[in-house]
Amino acid sequence: MGDYSMHELNFHDATFEKCLKCHVCTANCPISSASIDFGGPKHLGPELKRLTDNQQIIDDHRIELCTLCGTCDISCPENVHISTLTSYLKAIHNEQQGTKFRDFVLGNAELVGKIASAFAPVTNVTMKIKPIRKMMQMLMGIHADRQFPTYQFHHFHRKYNKKQSSTKRKVAYFVGCYATYNAPEVAEAFVKVMEYNHIEVAIPEQKCCGVPMFANGQMKQGLKNATYNTDKLLEYTRQGYDIVMTCTSCTLAFKKEYTSFLRTEEANELATHIYDANEYLRQLYDQDELNVDFAPTEVKAAYFAPCHMKGQGIGNPTMDILELIPGYEIQDLAASCCGQCGTFGFKEEKYEYSMKLGNDLAETVAEVDSDYTVTECGMCKNQLNQVTNKLVRHPMEIILESYEKAHNR
Ligand code: SF4
Ligand code: SF4
Ligand code: SF4
Repeated sequence: MGDYSMHELNFHDATFEKCLKCHVCTANCPISSASIDFGGPKHLGPELKRLTDNQQIIDDHRIELCTLCGTCDISCPENVHISTLTSYLKAIHNEQQGTKFRDFVLGNAELVGKIASAFAPVTNVTMKIKPIRKMMQMLMGIHADRQFPTYQFHHFHRKYNKKQSSTKRKVAYFVGCYATYNAPEVAEAFVKVMEYNHIEVAIPEQKCCGVPMFANGQMKQGLKNATYNTDKLLEYTRQGYDIVMTCTSCTLAFKKEYTSFLRTEEANELATHIYDANEYLRQLYDQDELNVDFAPTEVKAAYFAPCHMKGQGIGNPTMDILELIPGYEIQDLAASCCGQCGTFGFKEEKYEYSMKLGNDLAETVAEVDSDYTVTECGMCKNQLNQVTNKLVRHPMEIILESYEKAHNR
């Protein structure tokens, strides 16, 4: 695939014909619960697809409110690919209306990460200056009260860039934008956790997974990134590497979006080699290969499962692994979407809905007796940092800490 014309956005997903109009997806959609302005997944997925195919309606602006969280997909009894339909309908809406400058910026997380980290820490200070944020709200529509994640000058690719692994088990790490530019400590922790398991990590050439592009209607650019990443990562899987990721949104993109959107044998082949980091550790454990030399502790933690973890349908690998640490107690918050939803929660006109969901989550966090909150998604962490006073940690940092304590490091 090279150039993605509008014609290619006339996608062929016939699952909409199976819709029973049961409304289960709408009952489970976080945005439907936060906003009466949103038509809901049934209407803006299968029904809108039918109407656009029949040329009765070619566009519906309410599609902008869909966050692509995927909650509707996992609730549908007929396995209608609802968020695949809404992704394309967003792209068609974008073609009709044109891309706002703000959405172009938010959709290009990798470019923003490169620029913002090159000028960190100045970027981080600037993003906290109220008059500048007010100006950004006025000129760009990015809400002045939304906290931004910080950017790191010493980003992950400056620190670690091995291209090949020399160990028996081989892992190629798709780092993703957040762990590269905002949280290199997560990426470093993952590499060290693998080292404690005698696995050397390689870093393939990679571009942003495309999720922020899909969410902002930039389907053509997202498909280009998906094709690039598929080609680069297949070079590794065909040499025996497993592909592992620490960001649940990146992981879901490779497992679900790439196969649905690209519809190629290559995307399907690659998807069979993709693992969430804790899913991978759990597989090592099941095969008696996991280093379980964890230091005992006395911690009470609360776990927030990102929507994009739930969407993978792999159970709860993070809690499965953390519960192997002696004395580590972790409770699932069993909460709905955090409301940050990637770039959604930055947008002026969506901030109110984002904070409604965020404040509901904050109440749930407050009800649980815990020392800190655990989550894998950097954007969920951003929301939790804004709406709660509790520390938020990535599971890789906790696992590394336990290994290091056990080895007196
Ligand atoms: S849950 Fe599935 S079958 Fe039910 S209305 Fe939604 S798309 Fe249709
Ligand atoms: S992807 Fe999420 S926000 Fe969009 S319709 Fe489905 S449940 Fe609602
Ligand atoms: S920010 Fe987290 S909870 Fe919200 S949609 Fe994205 S993955 Fe789901």
